[in-house]
Amino acid sequence: MSTYDIIIVGGGITGVATAYELAKKKAGRILLLEKEFVSAGSTGSCAAGIRAQFGTEFNIGLMKRSLDKFEHLARELDYPEDKIELWQGGYLVLAYSEKEWENLKSRVEVQHRLGIMTEILTVEEIIARFPQLNLNGVYGGTFHQRDGHADPLHTTFAYARAARRLGVEIREWTRVEGLVQERGKIRGVKVNGELIEGEKVLVACGAWSSHLMKTVGVEIPLWGEKHEILITEPLERAFAPMVISFSIGYYIQQRPHGSFIMGIGPENPAHWHDPRDFDFSPTWRFLERMSQAATSVLPMLKSVNIVRQWAGLYEMTPDAHHILGPIDEVPGLYIAAGGSGHGFMFGPVVGELMAEWILGETLSYDITRLNYQRFQKGELVREPAVVG
Ligand SMILES: Cc1cc2nc3c(=O)[nH]c(=O)nc-3n(C[C@H](O)[C@H](O)[C@H](O)COP(=O)(O)OP(=O)(O)OC[C@H]3O[C@@H](n4cnc5c(N)ncnc54)[C@H](O)[C@@H]3O)c2cc1C
Repeated sequence: MSTYDIIIVGGGITGVATAYELAKKKAGRILLLEKEFVSAGSTGSCAAGIRAQFGTEFNIGLMKRSLDKFEHLARELDYPEDKIELWQGGYLVLAYSEKEWENLKSRVEVQHRLGIMTEILTVEEIIARFPQLNLNGVYGGTFHQRDGHADPLHTTFAYARAARRLGVEIREWTRVEGLVQERGKIRGVKVNGELIEGEKVLVACGAWSSHLMKTVGVEIPLWGEKHEILITEPLERAFAPMVISFSIGYYIQQRPHGSFIMGIGPENPAHWHDPRDFDFSPTWRFLERMSQAATSVLPMLKSVNIVRQWAGLYEMTPDAHHILGPIDEVPGLYIAAGGSGHGFMFGPVVGELMAEWILGETLSYDITRLNYQRFQKGELVREPAVVG
């Protein structure tokens, strides 16, 4: 039987970033267990957009920290910059009603106060800057140049490699069958019927987290919601930003190598009491809805070929925010999951803050409102700027 100071379950961006930050703080013997391979979950199937254009002071401040970290990640993790591929072509958020336009503009004031220098653009200004766009029905938009994307696989590999260098043991193809508690506190995890002992255990299993939590009788409102996405053949580079609509639910971006990546929210989303289990099947209906939205806003895409479509899971919570922190019923047990449609971009800052929390340090950014008890108390964290 082996004993660790900290066991992390889940090798997505959340798990590996936390492992690295813990190891940097010399937190002792750390083991990370992943049922498939590092990045196999939502992280590996995501669009990997990164933006600080949120609507609440809390999220803008938190995301600004994550963006600062992304900008120095390659150097910090000693990983090739051209692989992490941070591309800051900006996010252009479009408003499709007067009300949405007023809301977008009102958020910019908060963003400026926190150092996120988003621009407010009229329809004419958008066309002057991005003539490829068809802005029928658009009232205006906001643009923040530092937003962009990074390669989700290499970012995760970079964290995993740096964590290993600092002594973290990472075991892939190792499924945790259950959590083990004894005398009211965490004792470890079960793998192949055997106990692996850990003083502390962090569940960072994305959409699978609530299943594992149930093995010690803890109910967490977190479920997987299927989201489809596609990538096209490469075209000559013509368009830099991620163009996005929160009300229609689409996002479209040309990658540095020329392909367009895009997604649109589901028509009939799953919810806590109707999780529909784990469905990754691609559909014609998505292709139809996506093609309509994409060719309407970017007519240049009318004759482009689609190379691949796939589906992944948003790890949803009732307020579309992470669930972070200790589980009071089982001392020593922690959770970091539920990033919903934005868990990749928050990964670096969540890793940093979870390491502080697990080690009992004072949190350098107060994320205690994201504790799971908010659902029992009815204190949900609201954020208007998300893709549904
Ligand atoms: C189509 C799509 C587009 C998206 N676009 C964006 C975007 O543009 N920007 C953004 O920020 N976010 C985006 N997201 C969301 C983002 O992908 C997630 O929020 C984020 O990757 C979650 O990371 P994670 O590490 O918490 O979970 P995951 O990446 O799911 O990692 C959890 C890991 O735990 C492992 N695991 C599960 N159960 C066990 C077990 N019992 N034992 C061992 N291992 C286990 C899984 O195999 C998995 O690798 C998108 C998601 C999808 C599906």
